[in-house]
Amino acid sequence: MLILMGLNTPREDIEKVKQKIISKNCTPHEIPGSSKLAIGITGPSNNLNEEDFLLMESVEEVVRITKQYKLVSREMKPEDTIINIGKEKIGGEELTIIAGPCSVESREQLFEVAGQLKEIGINFLRAGAYKPRTSPYSFQGLKEKGLEFLNEVKKELGMIIVTEVKDTQTLPLIFEVADVIQIGARNMQNFSLLEQAGRLSKTILLKRGLAATVEDLLMSAEYILSQGNYNVILCERGIRTFETSTRNTLDLNAIPVIKKNTHLPVIVDPSHGIGMWDKVSPMAMASVACGADGLMIEVHSHPEQALSDGFQSLTPENFKKLLIKLKQLAPVVDKKVKLNV
Ligand code: PEP
Ligand code: MN
Repeated sequence: MLILMGLNTPREDIEKVKQKIISKNCTPHEIPGSSKLAIGITGPSNNLNEEDFLLMESVEEVVRITKQYKLVSREMKPEDTIINIGKEKIGGEELTIIAGPCSVESREQLFEVAGQLKEIGINFLRAGAYKPRTSPYSFQGLKEKGLEFLNEVKKELGMIIVTEVKDTQTLPLIFEVADVIQIGARNMQNFSLLEQAGRLSKTILLKRGLAATVEDLLMSAEYILSQGNYNVILCERGIRTFETSTRNTLDLNAIPVIKKNTHLPVIVDPSHGIGMWDKVSPMAMASVACGADGLMIEVHSHPEQALSDGFQSLTPENFKKLLIKLKQLAPVVDKKVKLNV
């Protein structure tokens, strides 16, 4: 349920509505908008009676949310959510471009690629310190050491760090370094991790699970928002299908569907989506054409030496070629690329 109040409603009236919600064993969520103030309600909805709220001072409208997910739904918040990190805005008209290697491999490797990316104006650096790998014998990441290197890059180059959390135990360590905490495909339904991430004041990048429906993804995001963290970016990264000629099947259909159903920003990871470096660019272009708010792309200075996902990583040169094309494409879908390429 959603309570709509005027923008100039006195604080006292807002607090009374919130108290009423709490007295019904539900949780109020204040959602500021440009034309109305909304108070979303989660919890046992059969405790709630529309009339109780309609009789209260300053309440203009009471709306029932029909979707299973509430706080992430567009019914709850029709306007796009824009997440601010430093000077960057995610979900607005500027395309968010996150780039970097699959894993942190060494201080030298990280600084080399970060420097190359910074030079072309990229501010979001991705790189995993804790890697969820299919095989226990594959490189598992540098863990704490990797976080240390990420922290050094953050301080020296002023980049925004996007890095993955693999479990609840290491979440506090990652919180210290990351500006955006990535929850990977394999953890999309790790509900205790989602709940803990929901209690943090840090942006969460939630990737779609390997065999998750759009609704599953939105329900997982709801776990995070329901705990009070509204800064969630969703990421389409390909799903498992019967097709084996590509690593995954990038579900381009999902982009406009997710955008229609939620106000949260949606980005696409075409690197994991297709799994072949020479096909990453067309899929990145297609993603933007479909309405993505941004892209996350694996870039490595020496892909042939990469300890993970080298075969799907672009060199900085090829990545730059893609950015030049994206800059031309973006205005067609009312987006902008503000990079010096
Ligand atoms: C990654 O981004 O490197 C990664 C492991 O992604 P996913 O969770 O989508 O497989
Ligand atoms: Mn990877």
